[in-house]
Amino acid sequence: MQQEDLFKKLTSHCKEYGFIFQSSEIYDGLSAVYDYGQYGAELKNNIRKYWWDSMLLLNDNIVGLDSAIFMHPEVWKASGHVDAFNDPLIDNKDSKKRYRADILIEEFIEKLSEKKTKEVTRAAKRFGEEFDEAMFIQTNKRVLDLDERINSVRRRFVEASEKSDLAEIRQIIIDCDIADPVSGSRNWTDVRQFNLMFDTKLGSISEDASKIYLRPETAQGIFVNFMNVQKSGRMKLPFGIAQVGKAFRNEIVARQFIFRMREFEQMEMQFFVRPGEEKQWYEYWKEKRMKWHSNLGFSQDKYRFHDHDKLAHYANAATDIEFAFPFGFKEVEGIHSRTDYDLSQHQKFCGKKLQYFDNELSKSYVPYVVETSIGLDRMFLTVVAASWEEEKIKKENGAEDERVVLRLPPALAPVKLAIFPLVKKDGLAEISQKIRDDLRFDFICQYEEKDSIGRRYRRQDAIGTPFCITIDHQTKEDEKVTIRYRDTMLQERLPVGKLREIIGEKVNMKSLLKSL
Ligand code: ATP
Repeated sequence: MQQEDLFKKLTSHCKEYGFIFQSSEIYDGLSAVYDYGQYGAELKNNIRKYWWDSMLLLNDNIVGLDSAIFMHPEVWKASGHVDAFNDPLIDNKDSKKRYRADILIEEFIEKLSEKKTKEVTRAAKRFGEEFDEAMFIQTNKRVLDLDERINSVRRRFVEASEKSDLAEIRQIIIDCDIADPVSGSRNWTDVRQFNLMFDTKLGSISEDASKIYLRPETAQGIFVNFMNVQKSGRMKLPFGIAQVGKAFRNEIVARQFIFRMREFEQMEMQFFVRPGEEKQWYEYWKEKRMKWHSNLGFSQDKYRFHDHDKLAHYANAATDIEFAFPFGFKEVEGIHSRTDYDLSQHQKFCGKKLQYFDNELSKSYVPYVVETSIGLDRMFLTVVAASWEEEKIKKENGAEDERVVLRLPPALAPVKLAIFPLVKKDGLAEISQKIRDDLRFDFICQYEEKDSIGRRYRRQDAIGTPFCITIDHQTKEDEKVTIRYRDTMLQERLPVGKLREIIGEKVNMKSLLKSL
């Protein structure tokens, strides 16, 4: 299937089955803002819990925080967001479409890299077992030319970005012959900087009201509370503060569903360390965070690290964990070693000491910070994209059939167990409801009595329910039900009294956390 088709199918699946709706849809929607429906809200809660518990339960030295969205406007001056939280935008004069100039260039570089990979794969096929990949890469003319182009575009781009040289960024687009992906036109405007922060007014009388911002990241709420948490919690370095919350960015281009939204949720953790120890903690968190992703059991080759070519001036190391979305490998999470930049800036702007007294070293200093920052919505898209499958199956009578199944890790699934009476009559509905009433305190169960059992299975497959049970006439005799497993579609008879234990264990968050 074409990757574009796959993406379309994923987005319409999310809507059809109550995971995600366009915001204010009855008024034709609000661009790049989305609402989570009945199953989406559950799945999102479960992903949030997986992150939160992995931080808070599994680490003695990480605590939580829930800071406000509105903050003092000076915060954003100190953090650099007022002056520098910009994206370079460019318009195409023919299509009237707007793009991020940096993304156009990055995608161009990515295409060259893909060409290089194709050359290598083709050669590997041609030469068979004798193929020496390293030698081929070092000597093949086409590969060397591609490498040279990739490096030279990258060098120019990094240099231009560091100097905020917008004319040069435009020139790179022209020199690389980059066309509008929609219309194919190369008729570009100049590049302009665009600040991504939303602002509003605090106070009721407009003359007195002061301009404040909707936070573009949750991290600053952590930095400004560093002393509060450290002192009140008597925290010793190294320690971390974790927070989940909404962030807002007036994104220039927002065409990829919940990948890039104007209102979204972040899960961030700032880990405060002794200066000089940050690189070691950076490596530690890189590994930990990749483990958190791979622990979900999706194919490992869907993930990769992408180290930043261009480091922010305050960072001394940065990498992205990228996921293979249907539209290519893209960032899901960033891991950044941010030195003492943020705390030092706040110290300067607020005029108060933001320092830690290290008993062992008998001195005070501004701690260094390693942060892990992941978008909850982007993670949601990752989970849905990795779980979604259109599968050919055989019916019991041998006929061909198809099903769409969300192979969600059971601990993340919105509904854990579906309970079906084979028929409504003969007391089967009552027995089913009794089972549901008994299990509802343990996990989310859904009772369904409409349509054939096969159809009921399909609906549950589509929302990722890992277990369905059917109550039939035999149940009255032997107190057993038929359990059907989502992934294998196998069925077996189980005593009603065992359901809590067998299902509870598999759907519990503990099952995921234990393998971390
Ligand atoms: P990008 O390069 O994709 O714009 P970024 O580097 O600006 O992302 P960060 O500032 O590092 O992103 O934010 C941390 C995380 O927050 C990202 O890894 C991503 O998962 C999430 N995120 C950032 N912007 C958005 C957005 N507009 N919509 C949804 N999630 C976002």
